[in-house]
Amino acid sequence: MTQDTLFSKIIKKEIPAEIVFQDDRATAFRDINPKAPCHILIVPNKIIPTVNDVTEEDEALLGHLFIVARNLAQQEGIAEDGYRLIINCGRHGNQEVFHLHMHLVGGRSLGRMIQRD
Ligand code: 5GP
Repeated sequence: MTQDTLFSKIIKKEIPAEIVFQDDRATAFRDINPKAPCHILIVPNKIIPTVNDVTEEDEALLGHLFIVARNLAQQEGIAEDGYRLIINCGRHGNQEVFHLHMHLVGGRSLGRMIQRD
């Protein structure tokens, strides 16, 4: 049995979150620590820890995340000005939650993509 993650508990509504979309394949909710006026996490309901764990079987599911992102960007009113989709992977990617997720970030100009810290 796959171990629950923070996000699978949100998906099952065991932990509260502001869910903005849910279907049988994916769930989207607002990030608890938003980096921009719009910051939504789009998560497959299936637990895939990182991009390294993606298999060919997941191809349609991952494509679905983009459809959800497109629809939410429209719904949030940020589609025209643009936005950024981010998937962090592993230590160098600064991934915090090991349940693959796409960040939908927008509502302000986001500057250059990668910053050295
Ligand atoms: P990562 O760094 O793994 O790509 O992103 C994890 C994201 O999850 C972070 O942006 C963080 O703010 C968000 N996050 C962590 N814990 C919670 C939580 O309990 N609820 C919500 N809504 N977001 C969370």
